[in-house]
Amino acid sequence: MRLSQFDFEIEHRKGKLNVIPDALSRIQVDAIATPATSDEWYRHVYEDCQANPRKYPNFMVKDDRLLRYSKNKYELTNEFNWKLVVPEEDRLDILKKCHDEPVSAHLGVFKTHKRLSLNYYWPSMYREVKEYVKKCEICKQYKPVNTARPGLMGNPKEYYNLRKRHVELKVGQIVYKRTHYLSNASKRFTAKLAPKFQKCVITAKLSPLVYTLASMEGKTLDNFHIKDILKQDD
Ligand SMILES: [Zn+2]
Repeated sequence: MRLSQFDFEIEHRKGKLNVIPDALSRIQVDAIATPATSDEWYRHVYEDCQANPRKYPNFMVKDDRLLRYSKNKYELTNEFNWKLVVPEEDRLDILKKCHDEPVSAHLGVFKTHKRLSLNYYWPSMYREVKEYVKKCEICKQYKPVNTARPGLMGNPKEYYNLRKRHVELKVGQIVYKRTHYLSNASKRFTAKLAPKFQKCVITAKLSPLVYTLASMEGKTLDNFHIKDILKQDD
């Protein structure tokens, strides 16, 4: 973060060195500092909240940084805290820090914003988080499947672990095979009523994605892609 590199035009700091500061040096110490940023909004609030503190009850300049006091809207408690106001040129760094870095693990818009808004503030932050995450190349490549697949609607979800379906399976493991029945009116058979999953056992692993399955009675069924195999929850 480059905030620490700001230059400040503080005309006179002598007052801090005085044992008994007189009125004049007190005024000079409190001289309004100006941040070296091209962000006009930031500059304005930074300067104006020092000149007219009553106009800005939610803002304060501390240690040469502009802070904003606000409620943590994602918290269940009514907790308020001071957040660091980020000038335009530093926003990308902060976004990177709260989205890209290993600990952030490319979280989605909501979680990235949640993380960000705990400590930082700038106008239209949510919109910029949304734009940033939308454009993230890493996220585009590894977009997680986080919606329930329609095939599982109405089935006892607790038996299946959707999040672990990319984990490799082992020979001998009990799994559920997705069945794709087609309706056949002449046989008075409708796909709607057929069981969607069949309990099976893995008899061979052809690749991390393809497995040979057998019925629980030991009858070899066929080779199946992992997308049609659901792991039994432990
Ligand atoms: Zn990302």
